[in-house]
Amino acid sequence: MSEILVLVDHVDGDVKKVTLELLTLANRLGDAAAVWVGPGYEGAKAKLAEFGAKKVYLAEDEELTSYVVAPKAALLAKLVQEKSPAAVLVAATGEGKEVAGRLAVKTGSGALTDVVDVAEGFVGEHSIFGGAIIAHAKVRTGTPIIAVRPNSVAPEAAAATPAEEAVSVQLSDADRAAKIVEKVVEEKGERPDLTEAAIVVSGGRGVGSGENFKIIEALADTLGGAVGASRAATDAGWYPHQFQVGQTGKTVSPQLYIAVGISGAIQHRAGMQTSKTIVAINKDAEAPIFELVDFGVVGDLFQVAPQLTEEINKR
Ligand code: FAD
Repeated sequence: MSEILVLVDHVDGDVKKVTLELLTLANRLGDAAAVWVGPGYEGAKAKLAEFGAKKVYLAEDEELTSYVVAPKAALLAKLVQEKSPAAVLVAATGEGKEVAGRLAVKTGSGALTDVVDVAEGFVGEHSIFGGAIIAHAKVRTGTPIIAVRPNSVAPEAAAATPAEEAVSVQLSDADRAAKIVEKVVEEKGERPDLTEAAIVVSGGRGVGSGENFKIIEALADTLGGAVGASRAATDAGWYPHQFQVGQTGKTVSPQLYIAVGISGAIQHRAGMQTSKTIVAINKDAEAPIFELVDFGVVGDLFQVAPQLTEEINKR
């Protein structure tokens, strides 16, 4: 089977869940070959093997992570040239999409971004207009470079014993154009990452104020989940934008999504509709969110949510 390169998304060795999703997808299309850039591989090795990396190209030179994005594109371009993979998969994050664009230019290939699935023949599936329309697209020139949205594919463990191969690339002056002078790592709070959490509790306009978000946080903390918010809540300044779920926010796909005081606009659904179990608390029985839910509570969130938190706390 032909190799599919997967650019590993990691922060100092901490592998992001999206990488496991990409490995799963790559193994459906061919043989997953992870491309590791920067230090920290030893601690991450087992995880990549567990999720089916059949090969790991190792570029551990610290210099490659000293500059913004360009070295990763340069390395991948070299691997595309030398190894002729069938496709390259990256995460459709800000950085991943920039790598995809640069790599496409370097290799004269087409790139697809924000793909939610890839079918045989490297046909990418795009979910557009907030999920109302599915569009299919295929790269016609060069090696398909595909940026896949986090949380679009369920990661499946598929143990492999990866062969490791050290690789490197000579950086040009252009690759060294933007040096990273300081890295600010967001302090990890007690709560899990929104895009990686198994449980997400989101609050919307119905929550009424930033202060009231404590109700959402309390419920999330009881369940060991992350907190999300609708755009109405983030635009109002009640909760930081980084926690917005939806078309212009994060895409989440947890085991359990609880929407509290959220109407269920199409743009919100676009970011959470693939959640396994969806629960809504809304005082309006006609709210569109109820079309989507597995369980719904028609009621005042200021009564229902604290009661729920209390009840779960007792167990
Ligand atoms: P509302 O639609 O106002 O709903 C509030 C809900 O709370 C109502 O259903 C109401 O019945 C309920 N409620 C009120 N009080 C209570 C109470 N006491 N107890 C229980 N229920 C109560 N939105 C996103 O969320 N994410 C996005 O990424 C996003 N991107 C967008 C991109 C574009 C281009 C556009 C045009 C819009 C986007 N939106 C997005 C906005 C989206 O269209 C909606 O306006 C937004 O999702 C509404 O948020 P909401 O459900 O919190 O508010």
